[in-house]
Amino acid sequence: MSAVNAAGWRPEMGPAQHPDHEASALVTASGDRGLMLEEPLIFELGRPGSTGVDIDPASRAPSSALAKFRRKAAPALPGLTEPETVRHYTRLSRQNYGIDLGPFPLGSCTMKHNPRLNEKVARMPGFADLHPLAPQQTVRGALEVINELAHWLIELTGMHGVAMTPKAGAHGELCGVLCIKAALQARGEDRRVMLVPESAHGTNPATAAFAGFAIENIPATAEGRVDLAALKARLGPDVAGVMITNPNTCGLFERDLKVISEAVHAAGGYVYCDGANFNAIVGKVRPGDLGVDAMHINLHKTFSTPHGGGGPGSGPVVLSEALSPYGPLPYTARTADGIVHLVEEEDAAAMGHAESFGRMAAFHGQMGMFTRALTYILSHGADGLRQVAEDAVLNANYVLRSLDNVLDAPFGASGPCMHEALFSDDNLPEGFSTLDIAKGLIDEGFHPMTVYFPLVVHGAMLIEPTETESKAGLDRFIGSMRRLAERAKASDASLKTAPHFAPRRRLDETQAARKPVLSWQGA
Ligand SMILES: *Cc1c(COP(=O)(O)O)cnc(C)c1O
Repeated sequence: MSAVNAAGWRPEMGPAQHPDHEASALVTASGDRGLMLEEPLIFELGRPGSTGVDIDPASRAPSSALAKFRRKAAPALPGLTEPETVRHYTRLSRQNYGIDLGPFPLGSCTMKHNPRLNEKVARMPGFADLHPLAPQQTVRGALEVINELAHWLIELTGMHGVAMTPKAGAHGELCGVLCIKAALQARGEDRRVMLVPESAHGTNPATAAFAGFAIENIPATAEGRVDLAALKARLGPDVAGVMITNPNTCGLFERDLKVISEAVHAAGGYVYCDGANFNAIVGKVRPGDLGVDAMHINLHKTFSTPHGGGGPGSGPVVLSEALSPYGPLPYTARTADGIVHLVEEEDAAAMGHAESFGRMAAFHGQMGMFTRALTYILSHGADGLRQVAEDAVLNANYVLRSLDNVLDAPFGASGPCMHEALFSDDNLPEGFSTLDIAKGLIDEGFHPMTVYFPLVVHGAMLIEPTETESKAGLDRFIGSMRRLAERAKASDASLKTAPHFAPRRRLDETQAARKPVLSWQGA
C-alpha cells in the first residue's frame, strides 16, 4: 500500500479501520461515498492471468541465440479486463480538480477559463496533424500563424523582436538571460552578477544561476515593491542586469520600472522582466515603453490555453532592439514576395542574424499553444484584451476588499492591488495557520490558493481569481473564505484536521517530500 496517506486507510482494510469509523456510522463497505469513489492502485486491482486482450500462445520456442534473454519471471503487469481498466482511469480522473470544475484561485498561475473556440481551432487537422519535419512549402499556413502571433506579441508589448521557441515561462527566462549573456560577450564584458528582488518567482534566480550568473537579492520596501535606492546602490561594472516581475508577486505594479531601467542601462546592464503576470496589464501597458530588454510571456496564462497538471506551456520572449540580434533560431520572417519562411542556421548570416546564441528547442515551439493563443487574441480584439486586464484587476480587488476585515492584507493599506490579492497569517489565532485555511478550502470544494509564496509575507495566501470568474462565483468563494477565517477565529479544532470530505485526509507533506514512496511495492 502507499504510505503517503497519513490516515493510513485504504478500502481493502474495510470500514472498521477507517479513521472516521468512530465518528460516523456512515463509512461504507466499498469505501465509496456516493459519487466520491475510492480507487486502489492499478497494481492492487489487477490479478495474475486476467487480461483485456486475447493473445495466442507462442507457436515456437525462442531461437537459441536469444534464449539467454528469456524471462525468468512474468512481467509485473497489472492484469485487468478492458472495462476494469476503463473504469480505473475514469474513477481516477474524477478525483482531479480542474478549471472546468470550479475556480482555481492559485496566485501567480492565472488559471483562467480556456474558451472552447481555442480548442476548435487547435484541433483543425491542418494544424493538429502537422509533423515538425514536414517540408516548409507544405506548412505555410502554420508558419503564417506563428508569424502572425509573433507580430501581435511584439505589438502588445511594444518590443522589437520575439523568440517563439521557448516552451514555458522558465524556458523563456533562460532564453532571455542567454540573450543578455551573448550581448555582454559581444561587448567583451564579463559581468557576473544578476540582481533579483526578494519577491521574485523562484524560477528567476534559478534561471540566472543555471546560466552561470551569481545572484544577489534586492530588498523590498515596506509597501511590497523593489527598493529603488538599494537597487541603484548595487549597480556597477560587475552587474549584468536585473530580473523584475511586473506586476510583481505581491500583486503590485512596479511603478519605478522605467526609472529602474534607465539606471540599469546607464550602468551598462540589461533589464529582464518576468512577464508571467502580463494578464493584469495586457492592452494597458507596453513593457517596451518601460525600458525592458527581454520579457517572457506565458501564453498559457495570459492568453488562456490549458495548463496545470502537466499540460503544455509556451513562453515566447519579446526582445528589445539591443538584444534582438542574439535571439535564438529558428524564427519566422516574411520574404520580399510575401511568403513566411523559417530562418535556420544556414540562412541566419544572410538575414543579418549571425550573432544568435543558438537554439532553445529542436523545432519551432508549441504549435498547439500558438494556435490557441492567436485564436484568443484575435477573438478578443484590442478592446477585449484591455477588458481582460481591467476585469482581472477588478476581480482581485473585489476579493481583497471583501476579505481584508477577516484576514490580514499586508499591503492593503497602500492602495489597490493588480491581478491578485495577498493575505498573511497575521490575523489567525494562535495555533492556526495558512495551511489550515488552504485545507479547509478543499472541504468547501475549492482548489486552495497559492500558499507560503511570496516569501516576503509571513504565511502568505495569494489569490488570483482572474477575469473569468463571475461576481456570483466570487461571492461564493469569498463566503467560503470568510467562514474559514471565522472558524479559525473561533478556534474550531476540526479545521486543524481538514480536509474531512476529500478522498484523502491531511497528508504528512514533510514525510511525503523527505521519504517519498515511489514504488507500489515499497511499503
Ligand atoms: C508561472 C510563473 C513563472 C514560470 O512559468 P512556467 O511557464 O511555469 O515555467 C515564472 N514567473 C512567474 C511570476 C510565474 O507566475
